[in-house]
Amino acid sequence: MKIRNQEEVELIVRTTIAEVIEVDVEEVELNSSLYADLGVESLDLLDMSYRVEQEFQIVLPRIDPLYIASGFWEKEDLMKDGLITDLGISLLRKSMPELDPNLLKPGLKVYEVHRLFTPASIVRVILRLLEVKSQIPQECTDCNVPNESAKGTPDLHCPNCEKVYPMPLATDILMEDIKALMS
Ligand SMILES: [Zn+2]
Repeated sequence: MKIRNQEEVELIVRTTIAEVIEVDVEEVELNSSLYADLGVESLDLLDMSYRVEQEFQIVLPRIDPLYIASGFWEKEDLMKDGLITDLGISLLRKSMPELDPNLLKPGLKVYEVHRLFTPASIVRVILRLLEVKSQIPQECTDCNVPNESAKGTPDLHCPNCEKVYPMPLATDILMEDIKALMS
């Protein structure tokens, strides 16, 4: 598996976004809002996610931290009548440290969360998933040969005995991280 440092991941993310929305890479700053500053639409976001997933052999989560957290907390404790609760706000602030905390204030609506995402948000998630991926055995424990990426999946597999070394789901990884941040 190719190891990428943070600078490389940042450049790949900015370049991918620039390609999808057809602007110069210099215009895509790490802390620009994808929605408000760069005019990224949902279809662009899907296109972008697909390219990033191919590049890094990972699967990005399709939902924001509030919905990820609702696999553990009661949904009503995080959002009520379309508004994010105080617990939800504190959870977002901790789980998206790249955002200006002033953007995450009581009164924020649930549908507004994804509009706050920045290239830095995508970089953070990619780096976390790559970190977990690097902890999967890089050599087959039976054959001692290097494992390879399993085509079309984020898993690794042994080219010799075909044993699969699965990559945990992004939503499970991030939910455990949020639980740790909130405890
Ligand atoms: Zn093997």
